[in-house]
Amino acid sequence: MENYHNLVSKQQKFFHSGKTKDFNYRINALQRLRDSIKKYENKLLDALKADLHKPELEAYMTEIGVVLEEIRFTLKHLHSWVKPQRVKTPLTLLGSSSYIYSEPYGVALIIAPWNYPFQLMIAPLIGAIAAGNCAVLKPSELTPRTSEVLEQMITKLFPEEYIAVVQGGVETSQALLNEKFDTIFFTGSVPVGKIVMKAAAEHLTPITLELGGKSPCIVHEDANINLAAKRIAWGKFLNAGQTCVAPDYVYLHHNIKDVFIKELKIAIRKLYGELPIDNPNYTHIVSQKHFDRLSAFLDEGEIVIGGASDRSQLVIEPTVLTKISWQDTIMQDEIFGPILPILEYNDLSQVIEGIHNHPKPLALYLFTEDASVKKRILKNVSFGGGCINDTIYHIVSPYLPFGGVGSSGIGSYHGKGSFDAFSHKKSILKQTTRFDIPLRYPNFKNGIKMIKYFMG
Ligand code: NAD
Repeated sequence: MENYHNLVSKQQKFFHSGKTKDFNYRINALQRLRDSIKKYENKLLDALKADLHKPELEAYMTEIGVVLEEIRFTLKHLHSWVKPQRVKTPLTLLGSSSYIYSEPYGVALIIAPWNYPFQLMIAPLIGAIAAGNCAVLKPSELTPRTSEVLEQMITKLFPEEYIAVVQGGVETSQALLNEKFDTIFFTGSVPVGKIVMKAAAEHLTPITLELGGKSPCIVHEDANINLAAKRIAWGKFLNAGQTCVAPDYVYLHHNIKDVFIKELKIAIRKLYGELPIDNPNYTHIVSQKHFDRLSAFLDEGEIVIGGASDRSQLVIEPTVLTKISWQDTIMQDEIFGPILPILEYNDLSQVIEGIHNHPKPLALYLFTEDASVKKRILKNVSFGGGCINDTIYHIVSPYLPFGGVGSSGIGSYHGKGSFDAFSHKKSILKQTTRFDIPLRYPNFKNGIKMIKYFMG
């Protein structure tokens, strides 16, 4: 097994030189990263096309544009984020003042998956740089061309003692996890998340886990059906369903079943045409293994939309299944592909119970016009984050921290959240030397009386 001890030591040494903590160093690194992404835009788009058949608009929007936007936001606000934050001081600590200092953890390990191979590596890196860390990046081995361009770009931009890229698969990832990092940021599946957390526990390393799960999409009987169908079709089949926050399945009110399916069919046809398999603007499946796993689901329930696939091109048509229950195989794990099963319900309590019986989702989407329905779901169901009357868009706002809960993840990022994910919050009390309140000392007369007056 490879050994990354030297690389990590080099980064530790560089971190302790203090350079990466310098505000201008961080700003300069982010500006150069931004300029370089723009320079590599075509290469990246070609690589994403080769790895995943990602169409240009989708690739730009979800991989390149989104990180440029994140850099812009960070550059605009970093000066206020890095300032020690003054907070209140209780009366019992009269004479002193209180501050929270954000300090970089040190050397970060960032491990990324294949579904948005560029975005999910660069977005956390922006947080790591902004907070003043060094970083080792481990991109996915399943998208080799994008990972290669990413390495070229980063190697040209930064010395390896600051930011390094390590290529490889499971063994490389595990060799890296054997090292002692100051923080680990992992995006990927739940089973690997557990491996990462165990490895981090060995060194008591703080972690952020951005995982997955089955994200429900509830369509209530009073929903704007036309818009719901359009927004669900877009959110589900974007990147061919290989999106961590894609609607995994639809919980559909029984009374609107036929009309919703009719609208969904129209929406899918409008997005991808009559023959999505041949549509150059439709993403393909990442590997044969995933293609075969997904194809097996096509035998479950009843196909009401789509169903065609082509193994030689690794493409599966946007497909919708009905007559599905929680017992079907497709309902056991995250689907992560362009197949959308529909579960029916008559009463919201069935929905709430169904979700409660399974791990907490990363996202939840609710389509309704009824304020009491919104309130009931938000109050009774735990999930990472989500939208009312839309899908996916909640992850776009830099003002909304994005992350899971329970088995869908630990911690969050985006916007200031990314800076915070890579910062330790150091609490400092600055005490006065002008006087010394004697209350706390054991020889203070009537001390207990006074203490009781101030505390409790
Ligand atoms: P994965 O967990 O298989 O792999 C992610 C990374 O971990 C890769 O770099 C891989 O090399 C490494 N890895 C794989 N097996 C490992 C092992 N045994 N030990 C150590 N490292 C290992 O995930 P994936 O298939 O690349 O991505 C899909 C999953 O990621 C889905 O579950 C999806 O929901 C999740 N995801 C989550 C988010 C989020 O932001 N929450 C975003 C995208 C994807």
